[in-house]
Amino acid sequence: MDETLKQLPQRAKDTHNETKKFFTKLKKKPPKHLDVLMQELHDAEFSKTDCLTCANCCKTTGPLFTDKDVSRIAKHFKMKEQQFIETYLRVDEDNDYVLQSVPCTFLGTDNYCSIYDVRPKACREFPHTDRKKFQQISNLTLKNVAICPAAFNIVEEMKKRLG
Ligand code: SF4
Ligand code: SF4
Repeated sequence: MDETLKQLPQRAKDTHNETKKFFTKLKKKPPKHLDVLMQELHDAEFSKTDCLTCANCCKTTGPLFTDKDVSRIAKHFKMKEQQFIETYLRVDEDNDYVLQSVPCTFLGTDNYCSIYDVRPKACREFPHTDRKKFQQISNLTLKNVAICPAAFNIVEEMKKRLG
């Protein structure tokens, strides 16, 4: 996995223009079976990907914390919401709550998430490759393929199938 992660930013850079073009076309005319296809590609990729050998998302980019996330996680720690926010979060340029620093404070050295059961919604859904109307998050996906090897493979497989 280390080698894969090392090479990923360059591979994403090399395929960026081609992927961007592919997404532009996809947005204009998404195939009717896109949701089904994405579920299939997502399941196939994650059946062979062990996130515990990676954790690159948790190490390099933090999730957004919604109000519900804050409330649930603060409760987990038996903290007041405001106390949780002051201890772990900051407000970013889009006015969202994000982590004060990465790697994520809740990531263990064994790559386990110490708040897994109550983790933010964004963590549960990352890299969003099984979401409906996948064409709507192409800008985000263009960034995610440089972080997440599974997302990169899924997008490459999409290009093969639909290109
Ligand atoms: S979701 Fe992607 S970046 Fe995160 S641990 Fe799994 S493979 Fe790695
Ligand atoms: S909360 Fe857990 S899953 Fe989310 S970034 Fe932190 S360690 Fe990763």
